[in-house]
Parts: sequence; C-alpha cells; structure tokens
Amino acid sequence: MEWMEKELELLSGASLERSLRESGVAQETPGYVLRNERAMLNLSSNNYLGLADHPATIEAMRGALLSEGVGAGASRLVTGNRFPYGQLEQALAEWQRCEAALVIANGYMANSGVIGALVGRGDVVFSDRLNHASIVDGVVLSRAEHARYRHNDMEHLRTLLKKYRNHRRKLIVTDAIFSMDGDQAHLRELVSLKQEYGAMLMVDEAHSGGIYGRHGEGLCHELGLHDQVDIHMGTFSKAFGVYGAYICGSRTLIRWLVNEVRPLIYSTALPPSLVVGISKALELVISDHWRRVKLFAVSQLFRSSLKHSGFIVGDGGSPIVPLIVGNNEAALRFSHALEEKGIAAVAIRPPTVPDGTARIRFSLSAVHSETELLDAANCIRSIGHQMGVL
Ligand code: PMP
Repeated sequence: MEWMEKELELLSGASLERSLRESGVAQETPGYVLRNERAMLNLSSNNYLGLADHPATIEAMRGALLSEGVGAGASRLVTGNRFPYGQLEQALAEWQRCEAALVIANGYMANSGVIGALVGRGDVVFSDRLNHASIVDGVVLSRAEHARYRHNDMEHLRTLLKKYRNHRRKLIVTDAIFSMDGDQAHLRELVSLKQEYGAMLMVDEAHSGGIYGRHGEGLCHELGLHDQVDIHMGTFSKAFGVYGAYICGSRTLIRWLVNEVRPLIYSTALPPSLVVGISKALELVISDHWRRVKLFAVSQLFRSSLKHSGFIVGDGGSPIVPLIVGNNEAALRFSHALEEKGIAAVAIRPPTVPDGTARIRFSLSAVHSETELLDAANCIRSIGHQMGVL
C-alpha cells in the first residue's frame, strides 16, 4: 500500500487533497453551520429554500418513524415498496404534470442507473462537458459511446449529432443549472436538436427543482418545455432539504425503469420515514412560493455586489455564485481566510472543475438576510484585495 502514501503526498503538494470536516447544526441561527464550535454563515449548502429543518417535515418523519420503523428491510421489488412510496409518486407525477414518477435513493444513483437503462453498446450519449459526475459515471457504466460537447456549445453538439447519426439509440443529457457555475443549459435549442436528430432528452434538475417554476417544478416547466423533455430527473437533497431523487416521464418510461435500473433493483428501499418526509417537503415546495422569491432576491443582491467589486462570478442568474480564483492553492487560502471571518464557503478544485478554474462556490439560501449577505460581500471584497484576486 506504499503507493497510496505517495499519491496522497502528490495530492497534498498540489493543494488537491480533500478531507472530511465536522459540521453541526447551529441551533436558532438558520443559515449558519457549526464548525470548530463556532457558528459560521453557511454559504456552501444546497438547502436553497431553508426547508432542511422545517418543523412540519420533522413532525411528519417522527410520526412515520413510530408507525413504520427505521428501515424498509428490502429492495422495492421485494418487500421494501412501503405504502408511503405510492402516495409520493402520485403526488410527484401530478406536480410534474407527467404520467408517472419513480423515486430512487439519491441523485447519484438515479443518474448512474437510469442512463444505463436507456442506452448500451452501439448507442451514443451526448453530454455537456460540465455535466455532473453522476451523469459521467452513468454514461461510462452504460457502455454507450460518450460524445461530450463543449459547455453549452450547440454547434459542437450538432456536429456530434451528425457524426453519430447512424448509431442505434441517441440520448442527450444535461444539467438544467450547472452545479459548479450556476448557469443555465440552452434547453430550447436542446429540444429542437433532439427533435431534428431523433434523440431522447434527459434533464437533471438537481439545482433547479423546487427553485424554478410557479410551483417549483423546475426550469423545463418555467420555460414551457416540460412536454418536450423525455426524462425529468431531480433530487430531494437540495431545495427539498431531505434526501432522495425522482424520475418523471411517461408510464412506459417508468415501467421500463422499474425493470432496468440496477441501483433501484439491487439496493434497499429508502426508509419509509424519509419517503414521508419528502412528501411533506413537496407540499411545502409547492405552497411556499415566497421562499423562491426571497431566494432569487438575495442571490441577485449578493451576485451583483461581488460583480460590482470586480470579481469574476460567471454569467449565471441562479443561487449558485462561483467566484473564480484560478490557482488551487490560492482558492484554498481564500476559503481559510473566509472561515477566519466566520464564513463557511468551500474551495472547489479540479477534477470537480477544469484545471485553472479553482473557485469559491457560494450557494445561497432563502434563510439568508440581505444584511448578512451584504456584510459577507464586504468581507469577501477585503480578502480579495489582500490576496490580490481583485
Ligand atoms: N446531479 C447534480 C447536478 C448534482 O449537483 C448532484 C449533487 N451534487 C447530483 C446529481 C447527485 O444528487 P444526490 O446528492 O441526491 O446524490
């Protein structure tokens, strides 16, 4: 095992080693996280709507724990498909205005399993270069040809669609909001290319589900494109504040996936209490539109304040705000300096992002106040000056 020590030394020398840090709930200060016994403003959480500690969800889960027990005991296809699943999947299909829905344990398993159910050897997947790692892994596992197009470059995608036009099945897959940059996929163009070249289209709404659309249905709905998308995927771990993932689409699609998605078939069902918690969170996502309004208002304020200071923050308009630092070591130092000032915001480095684009990835929440964020932006500006990033 000596090789491992050597590899770790190399990672550490390049400021690329990762380690696990303890984080706790900062009681009575929503939007904060406990680190080293200190409450810090949490600008690195995906709890976009502030639902992760909602009393109604906690109460629903507590009740379900008492009535349903702690575990499902088997996979869904054996005896783990407990009653709360049916109710949730029906509510999801109604919310997404699709024929059917399927709950899968988490977003990583959904992407890594569903792609392999749709395509295999002799097929091709067209995937944006900045798509999430779970999509990349899904394509690799599927054994289909992997045609990666330059980020949001529709002309490059068209060239690849032409090149692979004789492959059997074709799948275009994209994040709706890109997780490390916060910008949007060009969904209208993707829909027309899919139609022109006879491909299926799968959209990952991990960072847009719960956030876009009048009832939080996602970006496809907000743009009026939901009928044109074949496979809708989203997670319950971010805006919903819970855990798990969904796929929505036609009845035929869901029937097929139940037969083919390996992480669904060969893994134990989610604990029923969690499924009940997701159902409650879905009600809140639908009803609490004010959380989306607040989230976009504070995100806009924070982004424009950083931009105004002269930082490079990309051109997205979502609650994900990347502050590009470039160098790995400088990104780490920036993050440590923020932590000293009471702000938790992690450095994201390669291979999660391309070489030379290490960054601080801020993600905002409806629980943050304007004052907290403006104070944070001032603090970030002074660190930027000290470190020569500005
Ligand atoms: N897709 C995207 C775009 C993501 O950002 C993530 C989470 N980082 C996932 C999928 C995986 O979701 P989960 O955390 O539920 O496994």
